[in-house]
Amino acid sequence: MPSELLFASFATSNLEPKNSFGAKWQRLLECLDLKALAADKRVAVKMHLGGGVGFSTIHPYLVRQLVAALQRAGAKEVFVCDGPNAVRKAAERGYTAETIGCQLVPVAGTADKYFYTKAIEPAYLSLSEVELAGEIVDADVLVDFSHIKGHGCCGFGGASKNLSMGAVVGSTRRKLHALEGGLVWDAERCSHCGSCVEHCPNHALSFDEDGVFDVNYHTCKFCQHCILICPAKAITMSGSGYVAFQEGMARTTAEVLKTFAPGNTLFISLIQNVTIFCDCWGMTTPSLVPDVGLLAGQDIVAIEKAALDLVRAEDLIPGSLPPGFTLTGKGHLFEQIHGKDPYVIVEALSRLGCGVPDYVLKTVE
Ligand code: SF4
Ligand code: SF4
Repeated sequence: MPSELLFASFATSNLEPKNSFGAKWQRLLECLDLKALAADKRVAVKMHLGGGVGFSTIHPYLVRQLVAALQRAGAKEVFVCDGPNAVRKAAERGYTAETIGCQLVPVAGTADKYFYTKAIEPAYLSLSEVELAGEIVDADVLVDFSHIKGHGCCGFGGASKNLSMGAVVGSTRRKLHALEGGLVWDAERCSHCGSCVEHCPNHALSFDEDGVFDVNYHTCKFCQHCILICPAKAITMSGSGYVAFQEGMARTTAEVLKTFAPGNTLFISLIQNVTIFCDCWGMTTPSLVPDVGLLAGQDIVAIEKAALDLVRAEDLIPGSLPPGFTLTGKGHLFEQIHGKDPYVIVEALSRLGCGVPDYVLKTVE
């Protein structure tokens, strides 16, 4: 049986404010049974708050409306959470207790050390256990409020990535990225321009005195910025590749969801400012497609599938691709850009029993 998802579109039939997206968002929140979800409960709203000079994350106005709706529904406590660095810098993107109406909490404490270890059974390749963020596990209800965008490592980032990479601590993120393999440097191609060292956000790269590339895997987060930024294409990844990364993320997501009682999760995905890379790049690039809308429902598989279906290659905005990127081959827009099928994670989550990929959209006018 297909899962029902609510959908509010950015498209508007006229210029009356009541037909704009902001008003539809409020009506969509009224359609959700937030009382059944949140009354007398502690609600964690997991978001990706971005970083650097990026500003294409979910607008604080939308967050505030959600928080207020949860509070009106009788939630005992509502808090928005993300990793400690993102929370520390959240005000730079407009997220403060004053603007969003609730406190901002680091998912695993300010030192990123408050977590629960869960076994992955059976182990998947090198992934035998994950460390789930304590503030998420301790909450009664999880609202996964995600921003849909492309991603260099896995094709796209949405509801599952928001949990598997964001509701865990740094050591688990590294384990997941490590499923893709290690960095391989081609000395013949390298011009020693230094760009990779300069732009590594984790200061993990250096060249030794003989000019040999060196990776500090204690700090490398396998974000692949160096691979994408290298003008000589001298850096690649070894290992099982993005499929293993997607599979690992799906298994981690499943572990996060298992910590909540049935019915105590809600997924909301915003398809606006669909940038080519993840918000963790710390910059904003042009939107690849016109703003689409917002999906909400209780099935993470259906919402991931629907979000991907709504981002269409034929809607690519001319001039939105950064230099060096072109559409190649067939498949989803993100696959044509990044060479990685984003539907892999939908299939993996479905196989793990997290939901069903079939959905029906109920449009909120
Ligand atoms: S960015 Fe590429 S070419 Fe430049 S130093 Fe790094 S590996 Fe070499
Ligand atoms: S993958 Fe990311 S963290 Fe690792 S060396 Fe490259 S840029 Fe730095």
